[in-house]
Amino acid sequence: MTVLVTGGAGYIGGHMVLALVDAGEKVVVIDNLSTGYAWAVPEGVELIVGDFGDADLVGQTLATHGVDAIAHFAAKIVVPESLADPLGYYLNNTSNARTLIECAVKAKVKHFIFSSTAAVYGETGSQPVTETTPLNPISPYGRSKLMTEWMLEDAARAYDFRYVALRYFNVAGADPQGRLGQTSKLATHLIKIGAQTALGRRPSMSIYGQDYPTRDGTCERDYIQVTDLAEAHLDALRYLRNGGASTVCNCGYGHGATVKEVIDVVKKVSGVDFEVEIAPRRPGDPAVIVARAERAREVLGWTPKRDNLEEIVAQALDWERRLHNKGL
Ligand code: UDP
Repeated sequence: MTVLVTGGAGYIGGHMVLALVDAGEKVVVIDNLSTGYAWAVPEGVELIVGDFGDADLVGQTLATHGVDAIAHFAAKIVVPESLADPLGYYLNNTSNARTLIECAVKAKVKHFIFSSTAAVYGETGSQPVTETTPLNPISPYGRSKLMTEWMLEDAARAYDFRYVALRYFNVAGADPQGRLGQTSKLATHLIKIGAQTALGRRPSMSIYGQDYPTRDGTCERDYIQVTDLAEAHLDALRYLRNGGASTVCNCGYGHGATVKEVIDVVKKVSGVDFEVEIAPRRPGDPAVIVARAERAREVLGWTPKRDNLEEIVAQALDWERRLHNKGL
């Protein structure tokens, strides 16, 4: 039994590959290296460079590797880019996902784990969000992912095929063993930017808005450590292999930190008191996004072990130093 990981050379998919290998699973990766790196795929794991929407390539891979489950991570994930290029997002995140699901059904691959996002909720008006909170995505990115959830739901109803869609909140941190972390040059994530600023790679950083209705006026988010997130996928895999019914689960810790709190932790852990400017609000940022994530614990048996912002920040700092040493 082999697991096909699409996007396995990227940030979250790469941590999934590590978690699978650590658990003794056989893995094959399809990644077009548009944002991922071949070096991110560990030795002993075959990397096929290509598109997950290439039906011939996927069909051949499923047949020749004895794949019993697909973990689908490959996607375009930048919200502002999705507003500028919605059709590109629908092609990659929705249309190509349809092809991948069809390949799975044709090859009788019955288990599918999908990398979804809290962006499917959009402006909910209520926090924390549960899996039953109405879905109202406000960006093409969120819509492109939600349409894939719907395709999975319909496919699971029609065919001998089951899936788990995991809706991620704010993924952060790096592999505790230092093997991998957030590498993308385009990353706009708060903790990565904080780490880069603390290490002097940026002269200063900005807080986007301090007039939100939160405890200190800055936005609150639920930061989940990336290895904990990968382990939720491992639990989903076991769940599906044991006959579990298709489901959708939030992945978060159920409590949040504000932008100011995060920056204070970066300053404390790094020991550097860097400059922070107050900038206008960033368009499209809701004040609070926090998960209710009991379902992943109750249904999948997920037990997060790394719910510690100081450790998450320390991992991000360590990874930025390693990237610097790699010349990245
Ligand atoms: N943020 C910020 N400065 C930065 C990057 C992010 O103030 O340099 C804020 C951003 O406005 C949001 C929060 O940090 O309120 C988390 O942003 P991120 O891009 O990490 O994740 P998002 O919640 O947008 O997916």
